[in-house]
Amino acid sequence: MLYIDGEWRGAHSGSSFEVTNPATGEPIGDVADGTRQDAADAIVAASVAFTGWSRLTAWQRSEYLQRAYSLMMERKEAIARLMTEEQGKPLKAARNEVQYAADFFRWYAEEAKRIYGDILPAPRSDQRFLVLRQPVGVVAAITPWNYPVSMITRKVAPALAAGCTIVLKPAEQTPLCAMEVFNILHDAGIPAGVANLVPTANPAPIGEEFVTNPRVAKLTFTGSTEVGTMLAGHAASAMKRLSLELGGHAPFIVFDDADAEYAAKGVSLVKFLNTGQACISPNRIYVHKTIVGRFMEVLEERVGRMRAGNGLEEGITIGPLVDAPSLQKVDRQVQDAVAKGATVRIGGSRLTEAGLDRGFFYAPTVLSGITPDMEIYNNETFGPVAPVIEFDNEDEVLALANDTNYGLAAYVYTQNLGRAMRMFEGLDYGIIGINDINPTAAAAPFGGMKASGIGREGGREGLAEYLETKLGGFSI
Ligand code: ADP
Repeated sequence: MLYIDGEWRGAHSGSSFEVTNPATGEPIGDVADGTRQDAADAIVAASVAFTGWSRLTAWQRSEYLQRAYSLMMERKEAIARLMTEEQGKPLKAARNEVQYAADFFRWYAEEAKRIYGDILPAPRSDQRFLVLRQPVGVVAAITPWNYPVSMITRKVAPALAAGCTIVLKPAEQTPLCAMEVFNILHDAGIPAGVANLVPTANPAPIGEEFVTNPRVAKLTFTGSTEVGTMLAGHAASAMKRLSLELGGHAPFIVFDDADAEYAAKGVSLVKFLNTGQACISPNRIYVHKTIVGRFMEVLEERVGRMRAGNGLEEGITIGPLVDAPSLQKVDRQVQDAVAKGATVRIGGSRLTEAGLDRGFFYAPTVLSGITPDMEIYNNETFGPVAPVIEFDNEDEVLALANDTNYGLAAYVYTQNLGRAMRMFEGLDYGIIGINDINPTAAAAPFGGMKASGIGREGGREGLAEYLETKLGGFSI
């Protein structure tokens, strides 16, 4: 269903589309198929609601967000189960995501009350300068399927805290999770028109409406670099504000002074999280040649213990890929690497036994002998494949790690403090994990450099994305 102006309703087209479980191929729901006209209606509703919402006190907006946090915590288990069915990640990971998603409501409920202004020294004695921070206006948001709840709250919570209203288009693979988030906003009593949801099976016309409608002040997009760049071009020509969270190609560097076993454990956890379908997933694993033997042993042993299957079942640690094209892309990258000389240490093919052929399962895979001519070395995989590359010295590996258009996340394992600091400063990435595989939280600025995007989400930076700065010069 669409959620527009405080009501659940069908689409203008009268049609709907099917949502399927990527682990079983079974249909799990039917959702109204929003059109460009629906998006335009939602934008009108958001525009009308803006006046009232932006004039509430920060304390009042904060209370709504606090209620949304409490409701999401109450519904955590049900939302997690739905997420596993709709997106595929194992239930434990789904629960973690719901917690992360709820954290954005709580964090921005608190931050709403800390949108401060400034009083500046003015050049004339009869002059006073005041700086005011105000909401940008109506926000259009587009979110992906890989984190189908937290990618929504990471935008909605700061937008609402700032006093903006919002129209959101979720990914076509995961509209049911999106509906649960908007159910929460509805039940939290958020006024009609403040937050609107337009699911669709055909995103392009709605994207066009978002970037051309004069009532939209800002576009916030999380998804592929290709689509983000296209939308940003149109949005820029209409002078809309922009935030973009795009693709990544994360290096994971393990130095010879690191604990090889601990680093291998780290890779096994973060690389296969969400079946590799994360923009901060390590995509090039550089291991110093003196410790690569032990590193590989531990990594292979850990990957060998992973169990793929339906994430609702006990003991499943790896879910399916989201759809058939994703499966084909992963297999193509592996085949290309093998054809160019890579060695498959474990995995390396689609999983089809014991009913897994009904879903989109790929075996957790470790490759060695990776060289720069391989597709996997240059492009984001978005799948459960760990490509390992040996290196020799620090300057060389830093140059290799930075030699990409992407700049989202990077990971470094070292016990040498000076080296850790040199890498932290030298890596051209927005998020650096030093002996840490999870450098994300509601309080922390998340975002990329270069082709990985513009702006930050989370933390105080994430709130600034929804605020305009206004200067007042007063002559007294
Ligand atoms: P992915 O490869 O991760 O699915 P996409 O960029 O295709 O990345 O999808 C991310 C989001 O962008 C989804 O909500 C999707 O519906 C949306 N999207 C894809 N193509 C367009 C488009 N032409 N206009 C607007 N949104 C789009």
